[in-house]
Amino acid sequence: MHELGVASEILDIALSEAGRHAAKKVTSIRLRVGVLRAIEPENLSFLFGHLARGTPAEGALLEIVEEPVRVECEGCGASEARSFTIECPRCKGPGVTVTGGDSLSILSLEIDA
Ligand SMILES: [Zn+2]
Repeated sequence: MHELGVASEILDIALSEAGRHAAKKVTSIRLRVGVLRAIEPENLSFLFGHLARGTPAEGALLEIVEEPVRVECEGCGASEARSFTIECPRCKGPGVTVTGGDSLSILSLEIDA
């Protein structure tokens, strides 16, 4: 259930942004979530909706953009993988380093003033 922590983190950011712009309502939130976070978008939306009840973010739509795993392969220069890996997804070489894919950030926020 780690989506609960993530949902509350997103809500905090959304509400403070809404406050900064004196917005009455947050209508949608676009997020980038790295696949290494292993977040179920449906769970996240559900929990967010629950937490946001009674706040300006109630009913806001969560739009989740998945970020692939970032890798660096010495052999072929591959830079993305579908999931955590110790071999290169393209050339199957062992010289692969995972460099990212666990980000969690808000890309944009739509508000009604
Ligand atoms: Zn490779």
